[in-house]
Amino acid sequence: MWQKIAAAGKKIVESGLVEANFGNISIRSRSGNSFLITKTGTALDEIDSCGVIEIPIFDGESDTFVDPFVAAAIEKAASSETPVHRRIYRETNANAILHAHCPYSVVMSILEHEAGNDAVIPIDSEGKLFLKEIPIISGGIGSDTLAANAAAVFKDESVKGAIILGHGTIAACDSLEEAYNVTAQLEHAAKIKYMYAKAKNLF
Ligand SMILES: [Zn+2]
Repeated sequence: MWQKIAAAGKKIVESGLVEANFGNISIRSRSGNSFLITKTGTALDEIDSCGVIEIPIFDGESDTFVDPFVAAAIEKAASSETPVHRRIYRETNANAILHAHCPYSVVMSILEHEAGNDAVIPIDSEGKLFLKEIPIISGGIGSDTLAANAAAVFKDESVKGAIILGHGTIAACDSLEEAYNVTAQLEHAAKIKYMYAKAKNLF
């Protein structure tokens, strides 16, 4: 399964959707009891079998017994956004999550937030068709607030992608392929809106 995560990481960096190589990717295990997530500090285009870690979705429920002390150590090695991924897996049917620091999405989330808006409304045809509106989620990195806000947004099954305020995109989908496509749509919609707003001096 780590190969799927590695392929998605490579694709997102090679496509130029991110400038920094950091973010995190996860997929739900076949049993549904756990998920595989990138380790903290792992560059998205350099993921190998040692760069991912398995985390139980529900406390005390795992495919294999894990000592609580070992569990704590594992969690420390996992991505700092692990609580956000776990909460989404607990509360929605998502099977894959991709979070990336896409620059236009970061900028647009801040501009819209400063203008008093809680979503980015796409103006491009692709964004209008597939995304309709992009919720802006707030909360510190890996915080309970962010985890709760993200899970609440993705409980609406028509929502596949959102932007974490001043931070990056997050897509929660059926597969990593879909999550990659949604991430590309989010960043495209944000880029077009930013360019339009700049040309018109709207902000
Ligand atoms: Zn991040």
